[in-house]
Amino acid sequence: MKKNLSISFISPEALPFVKTGGLADVVGSLSRQFKLLDLDVEVFLPFYKQIKEKNPGSKVVFEQLSAKLGYREIYFCLRKTSYQGVDFYFVDNEDFFHRDNLYGTSFGDYPDNLIRFAFFSKAVLVSLIALNSKPDIIHSNDWQTALVPFYMRKDRDVSKFFGRSRSLFTIHNLAYQGIGPSDTLPLLGIDYDFFTPGYFEFYGKINLMKAGIIFSEVISTVSKGYAREILTEEFGCGLQGLLQKRKNDIYGILNGADYSLWDPAKDNYIAANYNQESLSNKYLCKKDLLHEVGLDYSYTGPLLGVISRLAKQKGIDVLISAMHDIVRAGYKIIILGTGEERYQQALWELSRIYPDKIAVRVAFDDSLAHKIEAGCDLFLMPSEYEPCGLNQMYSLKYATPPVVRAVGGLDDTVIDYTQSPLRGNGFKFRRPEAGDFLNALHRAVDVYNNKDKWRELTVRAMSFDFSWEVSAGQYVNLYRKIIKGES
Ligand code: ADP
Repeated sequence: MKKNLSISFISPEALPFVKTGGLADVVGSLSRQFKLLDLDVEVFLPFYKQIKEKNPGSKVVFEQLSAKLGYREIYFCLRKTSYQGVDFYFVDNEDFFHRDNLYGTSFGDYPDNLIRFAFFSKAVLVSLIALNSKPDIIHSNDWQTALVPFYMRKDRDVSKFFGRSRSLFTIHNLAYQGIGPSDTLPLLGIDYDFFTPGYFEFYGKINLMKAGIIFSEVISTVSKGYAREILTEEFGCGLQGLLQKRKNDIYGILNGADYSLWDPAKDNYIAANYNQESLSNKYLCKKDLLHEVGLDYSYTGPLLGVISRLAKQKGIDVLISAMHDIVRAGYKIIILGTGEERYQQALWELSRIYPDKIAVRVAFDDSLAHKIEAGCDLFLMPSEYEPCGLNQMYSLKYATPPVVRAVGGLDDTVIDYTQSPLRGNGFKFRRPEAGDFLNALHRAVDVYNNKDKWRELTVRAMSFDFSWEVSAGQYVNLYRKIIKGES
């Protein structure tokens, strides 16, 4: 009998259990797609306080296992639950994961993050051994799990067991690298011999992302555009040299949109459902959204939406610089986001100055996110860089054309309407400057003001299909290539 391809996903977050960003959407959706394709798939996550509180019934698989990091033996319990046919395993260690947040507070990261996630990485490999599971592919994600391929190959406790398993390391965001002081190295169970520029050393510190890039068989990232960009000085975050050395092993696979959650025809959060034929219902969503955020609900001009982590990466500086002009042009804007204190303050201040034009919600609010996608006319993403980006895909489906900076996944998924009126689905600008951003926005509003052209554009935007089936198929092809050693 033909054996199914077996995949172990190791990730710091995954839906439906815990999410701070797109990585959670990706791991949650991809694992479900793999199940539909008959792959054997399991996901490993830390048993955060947030998961524990929502899933008190998870089953104990092993009461006590231990992972050795240097001289320290760290004990944990392995738990399991199933969701839509996918097995989720949780590494339960209260000291490391029973905290109010996943990675830190608004004042900064938890100081022991490198140890927490090194422990998680090693604990997953210990768990696989305890389960006697030798997956074909061990698929780790971002710096938090970048040590997995290193331990698989170099750690005396576990490396023998994984001789035949292959590793794929996916970079969802290169800017977060897991950097810390060099004296942490022995606490991660890593010999000082590896403290060289060819391994973990990075400007006198250690950098865990490097381990994923150096030791995994293949590296992927979440769009073809970003796969090219990370080889350059502008987007390589200091790792472009190392990445260039491995450029033949780097693949770009675009993330998908989960249309079972993001489809205006079925969305339970929004005031009225609609599709290409009933697009006029969208105005009910606009009214409802305006009402919900306390803006004048009879407003019929351009309504702009932003849903974003409030981080420099997302172009929040450009957005803030453009805000007075946005208001002066007579548009209204709704911003939903959480993140850096300075951005929260600046946005609140703007909403105090223009209370009838700008609505700001500092929260992580899934329901409001859906309402913004449906109720706004245009969706703004002026990102400095964007590995893939999900919101522009959702906004296309919701007939809310995106105005984006032409970088990474945004450049791959948005076609500029001004340049290609017959194919365009949104509006793009190149330089990360308020002037260029506003220019794209005004071009968009010109089209908005022409009823026929707007209808044509929004109907077309809805027809773009970024469903996970395509991306999942590309991952399966890549896994098979890795196993055959063709990559
Ligand atoms: P990133 O992972 O860099 O934050 P992505 O565009 O890949 O950006 O994914 C962000 C995901 O998180 C999207 O699903 C988006 O809707 C969601 N999101 C971001 N901020 C919020 C928020 N404040 N409230 C609700 N959802 C949010």
